[in-house]
Amino acid sequence: MPRYVYEAKDASSGCAKCRAGFEVVQRLGDARLAKCPDCGGPVFRVIQAPGLAHSATDLHYRAKRAGFHAIKKTGGGEYEKMY
Ligand SMILES: [Zn+2]
Repeated sequence: MPRYVYEAKDASSGCAKCRAGFEVVQRLGDARLAKCPDCGGPVFRVIQAPGLAHSATDLHYRAKRAGFHAIKKTGGGEYEKMY
């Protein structure tokens, strides 16, 4: 089943878990999370680059630490994170 990474929309109000980003296993038809299961704060789903299989989260954090990331607002209150 696909795994998705969520992050706090507002990094200053989330808990440690969602500020850092967390992974959720969901079926394809499942609704995306809108809230952090721990603190209830708003979260958005990080769009994963295709082809990053089991180590997607590792790559995500490595890319992030290296500064290879950008967020663009796509309208409707959604965000896409690009590497
Ligand atoms: Zn949280």
